[in-house]
Amino acid sequence: MALSQFDLVADKLNLEDGLRAILSAPQRTLSVSIPTRMDDGSVHVFEGYRVQHSLHRGPAKGGIRYSAHVSLDEVKALAMWMTWKCAIVDLPYGGAKGGVTVDPKLLSSGELERLTRRFTSELLPIIGPERDIPAPDMGTNAQTMAWMMDTYSANVGHAVPGIVTGKPMSIGGSAGREEATGRGVMIVTREAAQRVGITLAGASVVVQGFGNVGSHAARLLEKECNCRIVAVSDAQGGIYNAKGLDVTALESSTRSHGVLPEHGDFERISNAELLALECDVLVPAALENQITETNAHDVHAKLVVEGANGPTTPAADSILRDREIVVVPDVLANAGGVTVSYFEWVQGRDEYFWSSDEVNERLERILKNASLAVWTIAAREKIDLRLAAYLVGVGRVAEALRVRGIFP
Ligand code: NAD
Repeated sequence: MALSQFDLVADKLNLEDGLRAILSAPQRTLSVSIPTRMDDGSVHVFEGYRVQHSLHRGPAKGGIRYSAHVSLDEVKALAMWMTWKCAIVDLPYGGAKGGVTVDPKLLSSGELERLTRRFTSELLPIIGPERDIPAPDMGTNAQTMAWMMDTYSANVGHAVPGIVTGKPMSIGGSAGREEATGRGVMIVTREAAQRVGITLAGASVVVQGFGNVGSHAARLLEKECNCRIVAVSDAQGGIYNAKGLDVTALESSTRSHGVLPEHGDFERISNAELLALECDVLVPAALENQITETNAHDVHAKLVVEGANGPTTPAADSILRDREIVVVPDVLANAGGVTVSYFEWVQGRDEYFWSSDEVNERLERILKNASLAVWTIAAREKIDLRLAAYLVGVGRVAEALRVRGIFP
């Protein structure tokens, strides 16, 4: 999928054959064996990968995924997508991704720590604050990043906060990182609403998924844009009130119970019903493949803002396009997370930390500029925002490669 998408964009950009061949394959791929002592004294050897797709615009940036489904091909595709995403928001980074084939839920905390530390030391030849900066992804979290940072720092003999992002605040995490992706969703929604003629004050918003991305996006759209959040959902199903839900109350209840409340001033609906609600803005912020060929005809939103990665399948995308429903693609809509990761790295290298107001103000500037670039190309080329975003991203990487030239 990553390659066919790239081919489409390369055709549209008339990319030279040489550049096309370079960008089709990762710049560096490292496969490692990770011997790990398990709690029962046995040794298990896990497989891990780090792929740097492109280092043309700066050090590589991308998450580390722990999942039983991790394979080298998956990591290669995810690394390529990171290259485009970083370029779309114009961060001075290339793209990377890493992963270990392991179900982290089957390991104890001690086993995960030993696995992470050994994996980090196997990656030492290619990672570094000037070379490649990992971050959390599926199955990893701030604790994983703390172990990686400590292992790297122990090897070089001093604390190196800039080696990873997504760290706990106590060792150099950034203010505003936790809500950054949701805040980014709010900012790009505001930019899009303005252009398609939706007045956000009083507009109805439906959010699928009430986790990190969905809950912050819902709260900020309510607080900062006066939207009416009419429905939200989690894996158990959704809740709906046409007059608007009290998002702050839902957040605190979800924090204490782990799921949305059963009873309250709302009716319970299924996730399928939620996606089909009549509304101004639909924010899928749960998982991939939620809007498909099967249900894209049921979507009754004017604007879809992809908080999650890959929530709309390519077939659904073309149905929504035919129905003139505007989709703000994931690579732009959820780029707030990687942008504040970039801020965390900058702050770590400077050893000087910003207030949350400074973080939010800079995030807003970057996402407004990225939105402007994408909307401008979409209007000029008469194409959808997803293709426009890829044209911006791939175009910037190709330009960097062109001016740097090919060594030797
Ligand atoms: P999360 O685990 O915090 O939240 C996911 C939410 O989705 C939970 O409320 C869960 O109950 C709900 N959910 C799970 N299955 C569902 C289903 N079948 N129907 C409806 N809801 C369901 O995860 P997150 O960090 O909020 O990530 C959500 C999406 O956003 C993912 O696609 C992730 O890759 C993407 N994303 C996250 C970030 C970030 O900074 N957290 C950044 C970029 C992209």
